[in-house]
Amino acid sequence: MGIENFSGDYRAALERAHAHASSWLGSLPSRPVGPRMDADQLLARFNQPLQEQPLPAAGVVDELARLAEPGLMAMPSGRFFGWVMGGTLPAAMAADWLVTAWDQNASMRFATPATAAAEEVAGLWLLELLGLPAGSDVGFTTGATGANFAGLAAARAHVLAEAGWDLAAEGLSGSPRVRVLVGAERHASIDMALKYLGLGTPQAVAADAQGRIIPAALAAALEAGSGPAIVCLQAGNLHSGASDPMGEAAAIAHAHGAWVHVDGAFGLWAAASPTQRGQLAGLGDCDSWATDAHKTLNVPYDCGVVIVSRPEALRSVFGVHTSYLMTAGQGHSDPFEKVPEFSRRARGVPVWAALRSLGSSGVAALIDGLVANAQAFGSALSAMDGVEVLNEVVFTQVCVSFGSDERTRRVTARILADGATWMSGSHWAGRDILRISVSNWSTDSADVAASLAAIERALAAEGAG
Ligand SMILES: *Cc1c(COP(=O)(O)O)cnc(C)c1O
Repeated sequence: MGIENFSGDYRAALERAHAHASSWLGSLPSRPVGPRMDADQLLARFNQPLQEQPLPAAGVVDELARLAEPGLMAMPSGRFFGWVMGGTLPAAMAADWLVTAWDQNASMRFATPATAAAEEVAGLWLLELLGLPAGSDVGFTTGATGANFAGLAAARAHVLAEAGWDLAAEGLSGSPRVRVLVGAERHASIDMALKYLGLGTPQAVAADAQGRIIPAALAAALEAGSGPAIVCLQAGNLHSGASDPMGEAAAIAHAHGAWVHVDGAFGLWAAASPTQRGQLAGLGDCDSWATDAHKTLNVPYDCGVVIVSRPEALRSVFGVHTSYLMTAGQGHSDPFEKVPEFSRRARGVPVWAALRSLGSSGVAALIDGLVANAQAFGSALSAMDGVEVLNEVVFTQVCVSFGSDERTRRVTARILADGATWMSGSHWAGRDILRISVSNWSTDSADVAASLAAIERALAAEGAG
């Protein structure tokens, strides 16, 4: 222990971490997907009195790996389809290790120039891949929840400024009321962001059977009121995968002076594929966008991205200039001016590595592969007796019913108990469902076949009833 063996202690601990990481990753193709113990059992394993004396780092790493092993969910497995969660591309994982070793507090350009530059370039690449306006600000957040918060914070300041109200100086008390209109099937993180921002409960606008906002209903809702307004659109409905009609809805919103924010946590990535981007036509006409890199792009947690077309809007909210923080200089902004945190890890660096390793055609192939696997699930499931596919499989999401709600829940429980695959039970369009989200770069046709076989086993065990 101690400074005399500084590099030796690191080497010993990191070698153990590397060995445990390799055996974990090596176990993924064959291990059951779900954890073998629940949180209470894990708590009993971990829960011991904190000893008084220090322990060698390498031994602590070994102990951690041993204690945790039975409680790990194989989320990076190609047979994991729960919620909407990606795995991790090799280049992104290794870059994330380096980010940890470098230990850069990535908030200021002058202090951590290497990570600032890598993140800036990752941001430029993202704008190009997603077809968003050049010159937009890009900030790296913890996830799409944080990105929705940041984008809506910029929206709030901007629409109030247009109404003659200086939010930074005056605060929200006494300000004009900001109307927020959202699709009926927006993600709960939009409501959370609005709550943090003091904007209250939004007004829900009717959506169609696939969860897409109905433009005529949006127009009617905007016409029925007045004053500063924000419209939240969605790229990628959690259940159907469908996206709102971006161009049409944005034009309606802009005709009423509203700011248009897009929650595209996973669905924004359709814009990076030539075969998929048609469903997001007009995306670049919106004002702010939130997405995740830890879902569709398959970088490690946690990594979201906020993009705002008017840089002054984002910086007016998050930019502060105190005496001890050096400013970035003319024509540049510091990373901390675009996100809620001052201190943070360089989470945009794994984005750089993921994009560099894939290239633009690799990003498109990643998206197209996810969609192809989702469609393979959709067509195979449609052909099975007693199975109904409830959504149009337009992106990465597939929702199925096995008949009554009770039967769907029973079959879902059997599928999870089987262990070969992992999918989420959910509730959509008034029914209990099983949702399959294809978000992992490594899922291949063998994973899809093995998962379909698990569903067939569960159906056979359940019987025809
Ligand atoms: C996952 C998701 C979010 C929240 O993203 P986090 O990364 O979990 O914060 C928001 N909107 C949609 C549509 C999502 O799928």
